[in-house]
Amino acid sequence: MSRRIAIVGAGQAGLPLALSLQARGDQVTLVSNRSPDDIRGGRVMSSQCMFGTALAIEHEFGLDGWARECPPVEGIGLTVPHPGQPGAKLIDWAARLDRPAQAVDQRLKMPAWIERFRERGGSFVLQDAGVAELEALAATHDLTVVAAGKGEVTRLFERDTTNSPYEQPQRALALTYVKGMTPRTPYSRVCFNLIPGVGEYFVFPALTTSGACEIMVFEGIPGGPLDCWTDAKTPEQHLATSLRILETFLPWEAERCRHVELSDDNGILAGRFAPTVRRPVGRLPSGAQVFGIADTVVVNDPITGQGSNNATKCFKIVHDAIVAHGDRPFDAAWMQATFDRYWDYAQHVTRWTNMLLAPPPDHILKLLGAAGECPPLAAAIANNFDHPPAYFPWWADAVECDRFIATQMAKLASSADAAPAAQAA
Ligand SMILES: Cc1cc2nc3c(=O)[nH]c(=O)nc-3n(C[C@H](O)[C@H](O)[C@H](O)COP(=O)(O)OP(=O)(O)OC[C@H]3O[C@@H](n4cnc5c(N)ncnc54)[C@H](O)[C@@H]3O)c2cc1C
Repeated sequence: MSRRIAIVGAGQAGLPLALSLQARGDQVTLVSNRSPDDIRGGRVMSSQCMFGTALAIEHEFGLDGWARECPPVEGIGLTVPHPGQPGAKLIDWAARLDRPAQAVDQRLKMPAWIERFRERGGSFVLQDAGVAELEALAATHDLTVVAAGKGEVTRLFERDTTNSPYEQPQRALALTYVKGMTPRTPYSRVCFNLIPGVGEYFVFPALTTSGACEIMVFEGIPGGPLDCWTDAKTPEQHLATSLRILETFLPWEAERCRHVELSDDNGILAGRFAPTVRRPVGRLPSGAQVFGIADTVVVNDPITGQGSNNATKCFKIVHDAIVAHGDRPFDAAWMQATFDRYWDYAQHVTRWTNMLLAPPPDHILKLLGAAGECPPLAAAIANNFDHPPAYFPWWADAVECDRFIATQMAKLASSADAAPAAQAA
């Protein structure tokens, strides 16, 4: 049966939900505070690297229109500069992903998806929805979903203090989209550089409005040398700051940037936010209830590149729960149960991401170092980006971590033993 569903927020979760419910015949109202032209002509919003599972969900729903054009991200590498020897590396390894990742500029995706929704007769309302607008939507729809990302309206949802260990932003964030960077060989990858006590830098190929590019992501510990974006007043200054950081801390990355230029003047971003988990049921003054999804209720720091993946996996769970619910009312119990299904997964992503924001414990330093000697271990660390629950228990527990390293080392030893035997055969 056809349901009346309002969705506030036209982003990585709201749009796939709107399009998929529209496709099955629901009457969907999509509310966005930005038009397709606003988004297309505005600043970049994310680095949006998505791994195999999230890409497969987009494919399943016919939302992967850029899959052929977008350059693949074929692996993940980790480098830690040597603290005592400038220009040298303490840790340096890379592993291939079993399924490539891809990053399509949200300025391409979101306007195209909104236009598709409108062309199919969907009701698109350009409005910055606040409490009054939510009341009106809730009064006229069976379900009102809030997929407003980090927008102000998310404050309607109570902060979950138990699962939100940080009250303040833990990183000063910046994005720089560039063209002309020397590619990594023999396979493309997320080059993740961890500078102890300073922050992180990662970079990978992507598709932007003018074709292929590389996205540079800077994560600076607040007050440190990578927390340096307020003085960059123009796009040129932003690029110059990006390059200066690389020259200072990561000369091997600077080397790849001899000929870079910005993808466009809007290919830059700087900001910060506190990672926060919220309760999924928002109560309006009238008593009506609205349902928060994706970043609205679970927003993590981008250090692990999980937000778009989470938004996509969350959309799929919510879509399936709506379909399975038939014509029954979408009450608070349904909202909580649907969120709980998502949280079964997302709690691990949140925990892992929040751990990476803190100084690494000894067992993690040992793990990351051992991966340089042990390709199966490196491959496990890289591929779990697609499914972070698989990092546990060993990411959080020194004994389990030792055991995991030993298992992967044994795998390596048995493959080395098998190789001469295979040759002999
Ligand atoms: C610097 C940075 C780098 C990132 N890198 C990655 C990465 O590499 N990989 C990854 O997976 N994720 C990454 N992310 C996170 C990812 O972009 C988000 O988690 C994802 O877009 C969240 O989807 P969403 O639908 O919840 O919210 P969004 O995609 O943010 O969409 C929310 C939408 O709601 C609209 N809105 C807000 N308030 C209102 C309102 N009151 N009324 C109407 N509309 C409203 C907004 O304009 C927006 O269009 C990154 C984020 C940042 C900031």
